[in-house]
Amino acid sequence: MLMIKAGLLIDGTGAPPLQNVAVAVEDGRIESIIPAATISEVEREVVDLGGATLLPGFVDSHVHLTFEPSADHEAVRATLAADDRETLALRAARNAQLALLAGVTTLRDCGGPGFVTLRVRDAINEGIILGPRILASGPPITTTAGHLHFLGLTADSRDEVLKAGRVLVEAGVDFIKVCASGGNMTPGSNAYAAQYSAETLTALVVDAHRLGLQVVAHAQSADAIRYAAQAGADSIEHCAWLGENGSVEYDETTMDAIVEKGLYVGFTFPGIFRALLPTSKERDPSQARRLEELQEKVAVYRRMLSAGALALVSSDAGVRLTRFEDFAQSLEVMLSGCGATPLEVITAATRRPAQAMGLGHKIGTLEAGKMADMVAVDGDPFDDIRALRRVRAVIRGGRVVVWQGRLVVGRQPA
Ligand SMILES: [Zn+2]
Repeated sequence: MLMIKAGLLIDGTGAPPLQNVAVAVEDGRIESIIPAATISEVEREVVDLGGATLLPGFVDSHVHLTFEPSADHEAVRATLAADDRETLALRAARNAQLALLAGVTTLRDCGGPGFVTLRVRDAINEGIILGPRILASGPPITTTAGHLHFLGLTADSRDEVLKAGRVLVEAGVDFIKVCASGGNMTPGSNAYAAQYSAETLTALVVDAHRLGLQVVAHAQSADAIRYAAQAGADSIEHCAWLGENGSVEYDETTMDAIVEKGLYVGFTFPGIFRALLPTSKERDPSQARRLEELQEKVAVYRRMLSAGALALVSSDAGVRLTRFEDFAQSLEVMLSGCGATPLEVITAATRRPAQAMGLGHKIGTLEAGKMADMVAVDGDPFDDIRALRRVRAVIRGGRVVVWQGRLVVGRQPA
């Protein structure tokens, strides 16, 4: 049995933090959490994290592993277009490992070209390479000329959309991603309008559920959000409530329906939002207008949170300016921008996304019987959320996979 000792433990259930504890791990699972003073160091294998704070491993519910996070959308698309399949797979593997360094032990890949990410997922599961647990959608379903059409799966009519969903199931995806509106990364796709009718989205959700898979909907525009909510899409990503001229048109009735139906809402805070953080270099007066726009965007998430949204905080890593190793910064944006408490933020990055993905029985909290997926950080995130940037160690399935900021391949640290 392995004993992991830490100064503080936040189990992710909402219970108060525990001091000086040891987590007993057997066969990759948590057996018990006990006072550190009661363990006998002679008979047990001990990993001592000193005064660090132990939390459930992070779950980043929206990333794009095959993307190279360049400075602008054009460069991201250009790299994608230039990469062959082998390069895409290697890039995805590297990005998955960078996420692991940030404490992300599970991630949901919301779209890439072909089935590259599924192969990376399998390689990690088979132990060929080190990485986080991956849930992958393969290419998103979108319209001709629609958002992310260049990832290769376009479907226009209701029947084509159903067929596309079934093709994905056959290929072994973990969930289905559909682009319910256009998106900023795809020129000409119109992020301010819906791409599919409520009827088409409903048909897709019903069929996906019949086959045991969830539907995750990209929805920037207010009407796309309405249609996705009506269809019962399991998770609505971005949820920016954009009206036809790009201004925010928040719709309380639809938001209430989203909460009522228990649909999850993806609070994606990619790199551009980080200009809002107090530590950002971009907070100079010349950027005032831009910061104001970002504040308006974040304000809508604040409203959704007070309406009771089941928020999932994610990075959208891979898109412009969004590195995989910076997940904690998305959490900081949620805290400072949405007025969320540290516990709400941590829940939105651990227990809730685990539940949203149907993995709540296995991961997301530190409790007896769950997988020993943990992250140790320097400092107390309840005092200072930036502690989450200071990852000291990461444990996945009871194995130390990151130690002092480095991946551990091979022998475990003594
Ligand atoms: Zn995305």
